[in-house]
Amino acid sequence: MCGKTTSTPGKTRKLNAWQLARKFPELQQNKNCLRNIACPECGNRAQFHIQMKSVFSLRDDGTDGYEDTDFGPNAFCQCVECEHEGKVREFTFAGLDDLV
Ligand SMILES: [Zn+2]
Repeated sequence: MCGKTTSTPGKTRKLNAWQLARKFPELQQNKNCLRNIACPECGNRAQFHIQMKSVFSLRDDGTDGYEDTDFGPNAFCQCVECEHEGKVREFTFAGLDDLV
């Protein structure tokens, strides 16, 4: 038995868009699918692994494409640069692309 205290999860405070832009002055601008999305750990904005919902055309020999993609704020998201992971809302900074 040890008297170790357990840390409370989810207690880290999220930066706002302005703080993120100050932390990473070199942030690139996103105008389309990744608008207002950035990695809070390393500032990457180029590419993420995101869990998406989509409708595929599936045949016996496989798929040949998807119709449309959609993801919500609670979808899984991982930064391809530093492998930081969380939910999309933790990577979303409202108003970020109006600042950079
Ligand atoms: Zn990152």
